[in-house]
Amino acid sequence: MATAENKKDGYILRCFSCKTEYNVDDYGKFYRCAKCGNLLEVKRIPAAPGRFNRRRGLRPGVWKYFDLIPLWSEEKIVSLAEGGTTLFDCRNLATIFGIRSLFVKFEGLNPTGSFKDRGMTVGVSKAFELNYKSAMCASTGNTSASLAAYSAKAGMRCIVLVPKGKIAMGKMAQAIAYGAEIYQVDGNFDDSLRVASEICERDNKILLLNSLNPFRIEGQKTVSFEIVEQLGGTVPDFVVLPVGNGGNITAAWKGFSEIFEGGLEGTVGNHLGKNPPKMIAVQAQGAAPIARAFRSGLRDSIEFVSNPQTEASAINIGSPVSWMKALAAIYDSGGLADFVSDEEIFAAQKLIASKEGIFVEPASATPIAYLSKIAGEKSDAYEQMKDACVVCICTGNGLKDPNALLKGVSLERLQTISAEAKSLETVLA
Ligand SMILES: [Zn+2]
Repeated sequence: MATAENKKDGYILRCFSCKTEYNVDDYGKFYRCAKCGNLLEVKRIPAAPGRFNRRRGLRPGVWKYFDLIPLWSEEKIVSLAEGGTTLFDCRNLATIFGIRSLFVKFEGLNPTGSFKDRGMTVGVSKAFELNYKSAMCASTGNTSASLAAYSAKAGMRCIVLVPKGKIAMGKMAQAIAYGAEIYQVDGNFDDSLRVASEICERDNKILLLNSLNPFRIEGQKTVSFEIVEQLGGTVPDFVVLPVGNGGNITAAWKGFSEIFEGGLEGTVGNHLGKNPPKMIAVQAQGAAPIARAFRSGLRDSIEFVSNPQTEASAINIGSPVSWMKALAAIYDSGGLADFVSDEEIFAAQKLIASKEGIFVEPASATPIAYLSKIAGEKSDAYEQMKDACVVCICTGNGLKDPNALLKGVSLERLQTISAEAKSLETVLA
């Protein structure tokens, strides 16, 4: 069992781009590399096998992997029982698309209804360990709901910035219920994040907990450990996921990479002889800077979208902060990036709900929309995927954003019957 002191020796904070190293616990005094200004990441120094041991059965979900997460003291864990979400075997959709094996990792089953809880439990625990009393984020909704819940549990002040009029009501209701201080920014998500970053860089007493925070990535990477375990210790061929700010694909790829870097033998399954999965990033057509960069063959540069437009509010992001990490995940895994229209997204949202009983928010339906699209086109990607094991990560619960679904539905058109069995009988006949 690793003690806090020797666990510290197993991790460094380093620049994703120029690899300059920093002390892990100095994060928050700065948010970017002092040398080149790029994002930072926490790197586990691959240890001798057996050094890190998952304590089987002690905890469910994310914290089952405590020894693979850069938090030193177990006493500082702030948890709402996140992770451990179901991997659904979606045979109805597999048949419809003609794909051999199709699974959905439904992250909407997390405590606040989205995948953000995986990262937030680690981000807030680390803030707690580093003695921060205040946390801040900019959010399209899910991040604010999650940070608000974990801050409440930790007894920390929570400040959230949301783009005015561009956040789903369910998510807003959550942030209000959990007691966050909410400010609407007269601008879009990208503007909100810029403002939050500037304040946190100036005031070292407030920790910024957006997905550029590498501790959040460390929690979120556990989704990949779980997928491998749930598939009986094997690795899927393809992982398809929605991409907005880029933190999600960064984290999932980091998880798979760590499995293959070694040092986890006896913890996350036996995967010898297999390759890591190809990562497929799906964006909404009106907010697709990463997919467009990929189409142009770019890796080290990107053109942001100044006025992103999609009804899938969770991925309505034009300047993804983790674009460089996201593109690296796509290229390094041999994957790809593509986009789908809002029309395709809403059709897919209804399809997965009506065929599999899984109600996801619009952004979460983008992987399904993508599969539906390539199955229709019989594209090259489809030819590769049809005989493969494909896992879609569906990030958020549909209950968070009922208005988006109901927009095209006229409730007046639902048939009204009188309150008598006879009346129903006539209609059903
Ligand atoms: Zn650097």
